[in-house]
Amino acid sequence: MPELPEVEAVARTLRPLVQSRRIRCVHVFHPIATKPQTASHVARHAQGQRILIVDRKGKYLLLILGHGLLTMHFRLDGQLLWFANGKELLKRANQNKSNVHVDVALELDKGVLGFADRRHFGRVHFWESGEDCSGLSVLGIDALSRDFTSGQLAQLLAASKRPLKDFLLDQSYVAGIGNIYSCESLWHARFNPRRRANTLQSQEARRLHKAIVSVLARALECCLHPAPDFRNPEWWFQGLERVLRVYGREGKPCRRCGEPIRRREQGGRSTYYCGRCQK
Ligand SMILES: [Zn+2]
Repeated sequence: MPELPEVEAVARTLRPLVQSRRIRCVHVFHPIATKPQTASHVARHAQGQRILIVDRKGKYLLLILGHGLLTMHFRLDGQLLWFANGKELLKRANQNKSNVHVDVALELDKGVLGFADRRHFGRVHFWESGEDCSGLSVLGIDALSRDFTSGQLAQLLAASKRPLKDFLLDQSYVAGIGNIYSCESLWHARFNPRRRANTLQSQEARRLHKAIVSVLARALECCLHPAPDFRNPEWWFQGLERVLRVYGREGKPCRRCGEPIRRREQGGRSTYYCGRCQK
């Protein structure tokens, strides 16, 4: 599932392609991708508008329009695709089984941006304002923003009795961290995922903050080299295993102390951690 670094890499790569372009036509091939909004709601409001800014908040990709905004959320498998023009889109997309799957396409005055999710969890929505989007308005401090300081994190931790792993996954505290990078951050900071957030001392909060920032920065670097290739439907981020130290390593020795890495279900997700050096 794309988390902050992946969506940030997508936003940075997309920006020069679509910023200040006009949306000539919105094609909704699979209306499930706009639910609970209707396809015509999204198409009617976005059509004819210019994309002023490409932005990201948490795991949301935002296309800020002259009036209102489009939000894209990739959930598990969503991705973006790029076509040279409407003709290429209609030729390559959705015609038969060997074609590219596209759910929603924004035909621009130059090029076509496709949104695709074969499993149909991903969503494209239009909002008059960001406040109307409940998923966006509940987001806490973005983990990549200047506002995300160790002091801010310490305050949020002190006010929560939740286990650290659940705390990090809750987008209303810190936005952008998902299952993979929460495991990684806790491993780097040497905290047990089940430890209560409010038991961290201020020095420990600083350690966690530093771990989060460096884990996300390293992952973002990896996501940008090579940058996303929207022309290739098979493309996905390569080499992330290079930056991962604990995620997906059940039974393998901890890279710090050698103890086998454990996996535990926590909040319905797999948590990977070292039982010896994460306290
Ligand atoms: Zn260890």
